[in-house]
Amino acid sequence: MKLIFERSVAGRRTFQMPQSTFPKRELPKAVQRKERPRLPEMSEVAISRHYTKLAKQAFGVNSGFYPLGSCTMKYNPRINEVVAGLPGFARMHPLQPVDTARGCHEVLDRAREVLCEITGMDDMTFQPAAGAHGEYVGLLLMKKYHEKRGDTQRTRVLIPDSAHGTNPASAAMVGFTVTHLPSDDQGCVDLDALKANLDDTVAGLMLTNPNTVGIFDPNILEITRLVHESGGLNYYDGANLNAIMGWVRPGDMGFDIVHLNLHKTFSTPHGGGGPGAGPVGCKEFLSPFLPHSHMGARLAEVDTGDSVGQVRAFHGNFLVVARALTYALTLGREGVAQTSGMAVLNANYLMRKIEPYFPPYYNRICMHEFVLSLDKVKRSTGVGALDVAKCLLDYGMHPPTMYFPLIVPEALMVEPTETENRETLDEAAEAFAQIHQMIQDKPDSLHDCPTTTPIGRPDEVGAARNPIVRYSFPE
Ligand SMILES: *Cc1c(COP(=O)(O)O)cnc(C)c1O
Repeated sequence: MKLIFERSVAGRRTFQMPQSTFPKRELPKAVQRKERPRLPEMSEVAISRHYTKLAKQAFGVNSGFYPLGSCTMKYNPRINEVVAGLPGFARMHPLQPVDTARGCHEVLDRAREVLCEITGMDDMTFQPAAGAHGEYVGLLLMKKYHEKRGDTQRTRVLIPDSAHGTNPASAAMVGFTVTHLPSDDQGCVDLDALKANLDDTVAGLMLTNPNTVGIFDPNILEITRLVHESGGLNYYDGANLNAIMGWVRPGDMGFDIVHLNLHKTFSTPHGGGGPGAGPVGCKEFLSPFLPHSHMGARLAEVDTGDSVGQVRAFHGNFLVVARALTYALTLGREGVAQTSGMAVLNANYLMRKIEPYFPPYYNRICMHEFVLSLDKVKRSTGVGALDVAKCLLDYGMHPPTMYFPLIVPEALMVEPTETENRETLDEAAEAFAQIHQMIQDKPDSLHDCPTTTPIGRPDEVGAARNPIVRYSFPE
């Protein structure tokens, strides 16, 4: 497909602006351009077609099944967009007098109430802009808590080897050193390894439960108790809340700090790089350390000087919070529980439908996602996780997450989400069945997949490391 610059024809215009009747004003010389910008010159219909064509090449939740494990690519009800687009929200200026922004403050307060209730926390900040940003802030709370008590030798954070990569990265950013905890053969925390690592140098534990292989750790109360007993805090990576909300709360599992990914569980479209929100909730004793916004609902609160400081302008991505509140209120208490119930049911249904062709790596009831391993298939036929993922594109579905979690060789992680119906899940299972048959009949043909997409197998490392984001004009 041609780039928009390559479609440019000198002199083409969309429409003519009427002549201005105002006196002409020159900008100061210092800020004036020396040359005219080299913008594409096109007719309106050509622009419209260009972007429509581009949009059709992108795969989204509205194009088909998108079971990208760990990412919760579910359908976002349009009513949330309508509410976020209301002029009273969308056209607010953050420096507006506080008295004219009471409605927005109420949204923040009610969202805080609802999300604290769902997570079992006492207080929450909406400043962090994403999950990883939330982890960073949550760990700052942990650090401040120990510093405040003079417990400054606590510099280690324990993180399971199955964790999302952002966990150790965030801990390192905060200045902690990371100790990896091995998983047991069920993908859960190895209790003996945990005990062996606990001492007075441990600041805390970072955990997601269900973990990144989609399994709920049955020892969770024992795990958090052991950490508390040794003087550490428990941090809950709540990006997987889609599996448990309305059923069990991190606060009741023994966690002190939690971040949520509103752009996963709470219905903000994502995948294109944001905006998102990673609010951080905490128990009351950590509340004084939360970031303070210099304006708004928390204005009356006196900053005791213990805050870790502001981590983003104002209240973060406010409209993402407005969507989350709309989502929670339209679902209600029972709907929230039904949502995660359906997410878990769908994952287990699909796992059992796929099992005859590709058995799950951990053969037990899963939560909202499950993991397959192509390891054996790869050894016997040369067909790996990448080949199967690419082949699924030809069946009109987005591939599952590949090669994550790292503890599973040739992993494919499937998260169907609650918004898919049974027919879609059956079609997906059928695609896996047919691919399984292809592997028996003509394994080498899988290396040529996909055959129906605009590009097949790009150099992914090259695209990530050396992206060409600027057009170079032919001279
Ligand atoms: C997505 C995810 C994160 C990171 O969230 P971002 O918003 O992408 O920064 C952290 N942990 C888990 C388990 C996740 O799935």
